[in-house]
Amino acid sequence: MIPGPFTYHRPGSVADALKLLAELGDEARPLAGGHSLIPMMKLRLASPEHLIDLHGITALKGVVREGDRVVVRAMTTQHELLGSDVIASILPILKETSLLIADPQIRYCGTLGGNVANGDPGNDMPALMQLLNADFLIEGPDGQRTVAARDFYQGAYFTALEPGEILTAISIPGPASGHGYAYEKLKRKVGDYATAAAGVVMTMEGGIVTSCSIGLTNLADTPLWAQEAGEAVVGTSLDDAALKRAADAAIAIMSPAADGRGPVEYRKHVGGIMVQRALKRAAARAA
Ligand code: FAD
Repeated sequence: MIPGPFTYHRPGSVADALKLLAELGDEARPLAGGHSLIPMMKLRLASPEHLIDLHGITALKGVVREGDRVVVRAMTTQHELLGSDVIASILPILKETSLLIADPQIRYCGTLGGNVANGDPGNDMPALMQLLNADFLIEGPDGQRTVAARDFYQGAYFTALEPGEILTAISIPGPASGHGYAYEKLKRKVGDYATAAAGVVMTMEGGIVTSCSIGLTNLADTPLWAQEAGEAVVGTSLDDAALKRAADAAIAIMSPAADGRGPVEYRKHVGGIMVQRALKRAAARAA
């Protein structure tokens, strides 16, 4: 399929991009890597009349440390996350997850900003941002604001982004050193979106879990932060009973759609298995 007609704009600064979005109104959309938006346009599920390409804005590129946080600017690609020393040393779960997204060609273009702004429940990064308690930095006609990843997602393709706003960066608190982490993703084939996926970051001391945060992908129409499932393993040695309590608590908040990836009960069942696998692998990595 071929997209409908559109006018292409390439601003050189965030201020110019915001000006264009304000002038062109509802018919304008930011363009990042284009690997979600362009397929939607080809299927005529989106028909923006103006694309505001963010690639000319150097201020939107790069990964930097700011105190105990890591700031990933919105136009940083998944491929760049894979090559970043800061990500490898402080947030290795981002590297592990990036490698599970699609294929190298898509990772060369797809950006972290586009992945989290898109609002697709199948995208992998939003659940990670929720479990890591990241903040999304947003600029718009009324200035700058910050929205917690845990408050950002309102429904499939509905987020806290207002028309005319741009997500400029994602600010992520660095987990404790020695933390364990894992992202477990069940997919039908290489390059597919998750049938069910779970991410875990945890700390342990003397074989006992001292903190645990769990995020779930494609198991509801938004990403899910499974707070009670994480709390269910704190204070335990992650024995079988604790693993089951965590999986049951996670399953209790899942509401996946029945689709080509399977019926609801199957997806919830494998969602629980992803939680248990991620917990076990994270524990094995915790120092
Ligand atoms: P775009 O497609 O350019 O934009 C997506 C949306 O976000 C648009 O509405 C756009 O207007 C908006 N947007 C983008 N940047 C901003 C910004 N800075 N501020 C405000 N709004 C913005 N993703 C996964 O997570 N897991 C997968 O398994 C996976 N598999 C894929 C398989 C295939 C075959 C394809 C084509 C894609 C797959 N993707 C997957 C999606 C891929 O990761 C996309 O690149 C990503 O979802 C969107 O990022 P993008 O930079 O391409 O954004």
